[in-house]
Amino acid sequence: MSTEPKAMETTWLLPDLDDEIAAPFWAGTARGELLVQRCSQCGRVRMPPRPMCPHCRSLEHAWDPTSGRGTIWSFAIPHPPLLPAFAEVAPYNVIIVALDEDPAIRFVGNLVARADGPINEIDPRTIQIGDPVQVTFATVDDVTLPRWLRA
Ligand SMILES: [Zn+2]
Repeated sequence: MSTEPKAMETTWLLPDLDDEIAAPFWAGTARGELLVQRCSQCGRVRMPPRPMCPHCRSLEHAWDPTSGRGTIWSFAIPHPPLLPAFAEVAPYNVIIVALDEDPAIRFVGNLVARADGPINEIDPRTIQIGDPVQVTFATVDDVTLPRWLRA
């Protein structure tokens, strides 16, 4: 008797492209740009996107392109129990990238060997905090996700 579940459609948790606050970020990734919000009042950048500047409380902002370069600030290697789509590919890596322009700006993503490569392709034992990385992009369904390559 097998308790193996039937092969199921992969159900990744993907962002809502219609989210009013984050939509410009996802429009940027679709163009191959990694954007950050910049406050139009005090000039500070912030991530994740939000309607109000946490420093000066201005509601005015613009979107700036970044170099897409950073360093691994931290990482984790998830193991089950996980949501089914993620359990299928575990163990994989989740890295936190500190952006070169402003290391207080951090992105959560996966270190991959190639833009469309699987998230479990990199040997986790080879990942080091401080490693330089460069953003790349891969499209999953209708979402273009930032991912990270070794620089
Ligand atoms: Zn501000």
